[in-house]
Amino acid sequence: MDHARGNKLYPHAHVISGACSWKHWDFDTGHGKRPDHVLDPGEELKIKFGDETIRIINMGSNHTATDCVVYLEKRKVLAAGDIVWNQVHPMVMDPNCNISSWIKTLHRLDNEFEINTIVPGHGDITDKSVLTEMREYFLSLKNALADSDRLKLLKNKYKGMKSLPIITGLRKTVKKLKKEAKAVRNNLD
Ligand SMILES: [Zn+2]
Repeated sequence: MDHARGNKLYPHAHVISGACSWKHWDFDTGHGKRPDHVLDPGEELKIKFGDETIRIINMGSNHTATDCVVYLEKRKVLAAGDIVWNQVHPMVMDPNCNISSWIKTLHRLDNEFEINTIVPGHGDITDKSVLTEMREYFLSLKNALADSDRLKLLKNKYKGMKSLPIITGLRKTVKKLKKEAKAVRNNLD
């Protein structure tokens, strides 16, 4: 909702979105205008803008059901949306959030794009080192789920990170990772 409810303020905008059900769209946008262009997971749209080539890419389900990024090829700028949180605990409460695929997406962005600057969804503008930092954050917590001593150390390591009160924090991330791990175990049974 915090991503798309403001669409109504731009009635004449050309709207490009990742694919989702219309029920989902109508709820999240508050029945806003339907998109002019829908991108399936993995699909991208290229737009020439002066001397710049803009790529809009649907990275699949990570922070939400459908996360797109915008990449400026010439300037090597990645507007990563909420796939990247710089020194802020990421929001993982969306029911469609998938941290396992999120980790892979961070790796993909790091490998497949030449990046000078990242505009994150939250936190200061930064460079591509944030992609490794975020991956380490998720992976270290994921690998410490069954080890309370290690979790304590990590809590200390990440204590300088900001949270969005009530909505994000180390505990929320750990809870979500546990839920995902349980779902994987149930699938294996
Ligand atoms: Zn978000």
